[in-house]
Amino acid sequence: MMSALTLAVIAERLGAAFNGAPLQFSGVAIDSRQVCPGDLFVALPGDRVDGHDFIDAAIAQGAIAVLVERPVKASVPCLLVSSCLKALSEIGRASRDFSSSVVVAITGSCGKTTVKNLCRSIFSEAGPTVATAGNYNNEIGVPLTLARLQDETRYAIVEMGATRRGDIAHLCALARPSITTVLNAMEAHLEGFGTVADVADIKAEIYDGLGASGTAILNLDQAWVPLWQGRIARSGAKTLSYSLDDRSADLFVSDLRDHGLQGSAFTLHFSGESRELELALPGRHSVANALAAAALATASGLELDQIVAGLTKAQAEPGRLQSESLGGDKTLIDDSYNANPGSVRAAISLLAATPGSSLLILGEMLELGAESAEHHAQMGELARLQGVTHFVGVGEAVRPAVEAFGSGAQWYGSREALKPQLGELLDANDTILVKGSRGAAMESVLSALRDLA
Ligand code: ATP
Ligand code: MG
Repeated sequence: MMSALTLAVIAERLGAAFNGAPLQFSGVAIDSRQVCPGDLFVALPGDRVDGHDFIDAAIAQGAIAVLVERPVKASVPCLLVSSCLKALSEIGRASRDFSSSVVVAITGSCGKTTVKNLCRSIFSEAGPTVATAGNYNNEIGVPLTLARLQDETRYAIVEMGATRRGDIAHLCALARPSITTVLNAMEAHLEGFGTVADVADIKAEIYDGLGASGTAILNLDQAWVPLWQGRIARSGAKTLSYSLDDRSADLFVSDLRDHGLQGSAFTLHFSGESRELELALPGRHSVANALAAAALATASGLELDQIVAGLTKAQAEPGRLQSESLGGDKTLIDDSYNANPGSVRAAISLLAATPGSSLLILGEMLELGAESAEHHAQMGELARLQGVTHFVGVGEAVRPAVEAFGSGAQWYGSREALKPQLGELLDANDTILVKGSRGAAMESVLSALRDLA
């Protein structure tokens, strides 16, 4: 069954003129190619394309109404508003207001999508669950997620990203989550934020609006705990804590066995109970992500058995430390989705622990602002100290990392310049990890390696 939200209600909330019937729509789309029959098409004017140019295409795909910010001729009902983006926010807010589901919100520098997916896997054990699609975590993506809430939806898992102060507060005002977490604060998007302390402060907006009926999930292993505790105390929310190391946390692990690229096994503890489980996602940081998801689930009233079932089924996300065989004993690790110092550290510790010789191919870490060179150099040094055998840097910004790694490191100005050398590098290494920021598009290096194998 769909949500009780109708076009008439939306029009009223937006103060938009609408004389049509109280039509119900099944979903909201902003890309005409993704319109499903029964959807409302929102004609967002983007930087490169303007949704108003795709109205006919959207109707042909089955859109039953369109939301526009300038008059158009269309064969379906039109809602004319002053800003499609603002209207989209209001649709998200209205959809959430009509929903009785438990809304969980996740932010942090690294691991949001991963934890959101772990939550989807867990919460689906307990009831109908809507979770952010892909990485739709901004002012467009969050309303689109909220617009997918249906009458029967019991849980909504919302990923929230921020590039500026106030972003998270805005998204929380729409989603009104009752359970929230900041997974971590690391060096990411520093160009927009300033320092890591600013990142921690800005992400904490997710705790501000919780109020006394809300629950804040707190990662005790982060340096920002005092700051976050202060914010949680001010909002009046309850705290549920987790830790990899501190057994006084509400949720913690014991008997952690690292199975390298295969993931790990551990005992999960909560409220005097414990369960053994295996997690297919590799690295210690994945165990922290699993604890975060488990904490969000316990705060939502789920049972430990449902949590274990959900975590056991979860698989690595494409492009996030996904390993594959290149034939023989050779392994390729695709971590090309994105890179910042926090996620590069996680990648290095995983790669350094693999048997045989290892190679890190690192593209540029973007958006690091004035200290970019220093951050890159630290990654080169860390890779050497942890025992990664070889290092290849691609792109101008990675030069300091190559210098810091020293002997065994090579630098290439571009992916194209590197490609002719990949055969030799493949011969010389057992495990190769490829990583870089989204803008570095390191996936083409991965395809070249696959073609060689
Ligand atoms: P984005 O800001 O792009 O939405 P995200 O926060 O959603 O990123 P993911 O997509 O889950 O994060 O993961 C991005 C990268 O961070 C991957 O390389 C992943 O391996 C790494 N990562 C995931 N969780 C952690 C963590 N807790 N600590 C460090 N690195 C992590
Ligand atoms: Mg994400």
